Amino acid sequence: MKLPWKTKGIVLTAPLSEEVDDVVKFIDEYLAPRKFNLVVMQIRYRYRFKRHPECMGYDPLSYEDIKKLLYVCKKNGIRFIPKMNLCGHQSGLPNKPTDGILHGHQDEKYDIRDGLLRAYPEFGEQPHKPQVFYSRTLCLTNNAMKEVVFDLVDELLEVFEADAIHIGCDEVFNMGQCPTCSAVPKYKLYADWINTLSEHVKKRGAKILMWGDRLYSTEETGYHRYESSDTGTHPAREILDKDVIVCDWHYEDYGKFPSIELFANSGFKIMISPWRDKPSAEAFIKYAIEHDKGHIEGLLMTTWCGSGDLAKRLLYNTEGRWEHTNQIADTIDSLF
Ligand SMILES: [Zn+2]
Repeated sequence: MKLPWKTKGIVLTAPLSEEVDDVVKFIDEYLAPRKFNLVVMQIRYRYRFKRHPECMGYDPLSYEDIKKLLYVCKKNGIRFIPKMNLCGHQSGLPNKPTDGILHGHQDEKYDIRDGLLRAYPEFGEQPHKPQVFYSRTLCLTNNAMKEVVFDLVDELLEVFEADAIHIGCDEVFNMGQCPTCSAVPKYKLYADWINTLSEHVKKRGAKILMWGDRLYSTEETGYHRYESSDTGTHPAREILDKDVIVCDWHYEDYGKFPSIELFANSGFKIMISPWRDKPSAEAFIKYAIEHDKGHIEGLLMTTWCGSGDLAKRLLYNTEGRWEHTNQIADTIDSLF
């Protein structure tokens, strides 16, 4: 599919340490020839942080692992940036077989905490509640949390030699529960946090990317509640720093995608992010091309499977281990 934009990107999860070389080869031999020029690596807490080793997640990657991935990107003119989740998605359900990926889940029994909240449970909302709906969320007025998060962000920007970081901030359902947070309107709590992060990384010459689903309401778009806000966060759109790049994700075909126009009207630059279902991805891309008001920087394809799994499927045609890997691979292969 021919794209009219300058950026052709993909989100890859940080590989398992034993699969780093497969992913290096995948970038070099699969993504580069297909003219991908951005890799956003969903690392979360899976890095051997030197400043805060207590926050390391499952199977953390080493400095050398990241440099290998960085160098193959550099060699091919591919921009390489890290991705964390810095609001919701602080706990969840692991893929099976375990590949270090946690997904939000409606079944409350799956509430495995990721690196930051395992080390500092009090940095999350409702730390004493044994289980929460979908996934845990940071307590956005906790100043000690901000100090640790800034250190983690700085370390990732350094090792990735990155000019941007993707901060997630999608699918937030448990924000603003404590007395301090609940005194602030949700949209302000949310926007203030992201603006603080944006200000912090700008001092380091970098930018923020984030998911867009909390920035418009269910009512004004007709999207379902996982990809639109029914919790009052959406007015954040008006007070958020317009240097933040919004990644507008949609995985099914709604016929129309009103968020594209809402972001243009609010003055945002965006990327569009489809997923595994090919007809839906095509419909979304086509709609975006037709409704681009010059504010679309490009495509950021999502995957949500292990990147080693995806690499081996697309390089060697091996059977994917996770339930959706084969479909994701087929969609990428036939679209791009
Ligand atoms: Zn709080």
